Amino acid sequence: MPGRAEGYEELRRRLVEKLLREGYIQSERVLKAMLRVPRELFVPEELRHMAYEDTPLPIGHGQTISAPHMVAMMTELAELKPGMKVLEVGTGSGYHAAVLAEVVAPSDMPPEKWGHVYTIERIPELAERARRNLRKAGYADRVTVIVGDGTLGYPEAAPYDRIIVTAAAPDIPRPLVEQLRPGGKMVIPIGDRYMQYLYVVEKTHEGRIKARPVTPCLFVPLIGRYGWRPEDL
Ligand code: SAM
Repeated sequence: MPGRAEGYEELRRRLVEKLLREGYIQSERVLKAMLRVPRELFVPEELRHMAYEDTPLPIGHGQTISAPHMVAMMTELAELKPGMKVLEVGTGSGYHAAVLAEVVAPSDMPPEKWGHVYTIERIPELAERARRNLRKAGYADRVTVIVGDGTLGYPEAAPYDRIIVTAAAPDIPRPLVEQLRPGGKMVIPIGDRYMQYLYVVEKTHEGRIKARPVTPCLFVPLIGRYGWRPEDL
């Protein structure tokens, strides 16, 4: 079990190389981000020794931190660029938000060129822990954590260049489509409770919506006004 930062760095490098070989990481930007963000700071202390296994892990309240290959794949599909404004629905541990931040606001770029990540979590205790994790990892000034129902989006900072939803919805929540900038993209798992497809949704400059299924996946449910109702589950 690694007890020092160097130990985790080596494990991180090996995991990232595996994700590269497997084709989940395809771009220099996502490669750099996954190499930089310390996933061990986002998993519960007793599971730190598993931080660099390519698997989801429990984070409490029946929720999970997504598997690294899923984080890499969704981040690649979003085609992010430095300077972009991103909304993530489903903060969980805050790890994916940090990876998104490292792409739109890279640590080696002057802060005045940084984009920003807004991330919404419905469970206040998880949001609070994610804030702490993000602070420890050095992302507090690039990520804003909001407590609320993310199916309503976050109109205060709209429109967004990109929206990433990390919980599964029965359909695309209408407010998220409205808060996406024309020319923007959303990555979202859509389907029933136990089987979904990851979709890339594009909003054309004319405001038309094009949705393309990419791969089967399995996420925890998106619970809210435009998602699942707790009594459906
Ligand atoms: N992105 C996270 C990470 O990096 O750890 C993993 C997210 S976890 C798979 C999905 C999260 O979505 C859970 O924390 C869950 O509480 C949250 N969630 C579910 N419905 C939500 C909603 N309507 N608004 C905001 N968060 C929601």
